[in-house]
Amino acid sequence: MRGLPLLVDGHGREHRDLRVSLTDHCNLRCTYCMPAEGVPWLPKATLLTVDELVALVGIAVEAGITEVRLTGGEPLLRADIVEIVAGLAALEGPGGHPEVSMTTNGIGLARLAEPLAEAGLARVNVSLDTLDADTFKRLARRDRLSDTLAGIEAAGAAGLGPLKLNTVLMRDVNTAEAVDLLRFALERGAELRFIEQMPLDAGHTWTRDGMVTADETQAWLEQVFHLEPVPGRGAAPAERYRVRPRGEPDATPLGTVGIIASVTRPFCGACDRLRLTADGQLRNCLFATAESDLRTPLREGAGRAEVTRRIHASLASKLPGHGINDPGFLQPRRPMSAIGG
Ligand code: SF4
Repeated sequence: MRGLPLLVDGHGREHRDLRVSLTDHCNLRCTYCMPAEGVPWLPKATLLTVDELVALVGIAVEAGITEVRLTGGEPLLRADIVEIVAGLAALEGPGGHPEVSMTTNGIGLARLAEPLAEAGLARVNVSLDTLDADTFKRLARRDRLSDTLAGIEAAGAAGLGPLKLNTVLMRDVNTAEAVDLLRFALERGAELRFIEQMPLDAGHTWTRDGMVTADETQAWLEQVFHLEPVPGRGAAPAERYRVRPRGEPDATPLGTVGIIASVTRPFCGACDRLRLTADGQLRNCLFATAESDLRTPLREGAGRAEVTRRIHASLASKLPGHGINDPGFLQPRRPMSAIGG
């Protein structure tokens, strides 16, 4: 982007997207993320306050970040979530105000969608793995499907769009629902994205054979729909397809669907993402095994220059890809619930 300071790594990739995990706590216990008993939470004293979040993200925006995605755990569990969104949306950098979006399980969104939209939240991605209450209980170990569905409706009503829904297919659990989930999204003008399960779960139970691949998902969808690739992906994680009824390639599209195939069709070559954890650590990749501490220099008053220097140093050490398919791949110690989507 012309005129913006550059956040470029050693492989020439320009970074514009900062994912910010606001908490590692969650009100669900999804089987592909954490064990039923949960995980040891991050020490409270290490969690960034609103002011610290706004300060650190502000430095990143000054350095060239134009998109801020709030994640968790579950970001809506932060009692100060509206204040956080207002503070971040008001930031201004060389690229203007950053676009602030959120990935959420939707629980609590029915109550918060309007105030979050007023505070400056632009859009949401809501996780939805099933339309069946029993399957939801089995997958998330909580009986909260109706809350998630109410959250999706509220997001649409509050204009938090374009609305995106994220689905992780788990073998022999919700795979039979792939077509119904896509229909549900199309009926609401939302874009559903099927995400390959990644080796980031706290229990380290992920297996390649157990994972449902993008090829499998696409084959199931193409039994019912005609999928036409949408060109111009850029740095976006999702491959996108226009959806039409099977056998009607010239029909008016019903909408679009996305496939995020981190494992079998990696997209690291155009990655533009950095991540900030709830305890103030910068991760240059979802699968990074090393982190840069931004919290300590901030709390010690080291100032903007030192934080900016650490951001660039982290970028300089970023690897070309996640390495999941490499023989020596090591799953990061920090679980997905403490990194964020
Ligand atoms: S795995 Fe890492 S390098 Fe690859 S796209 Fe994700 S964040 Fe970027």
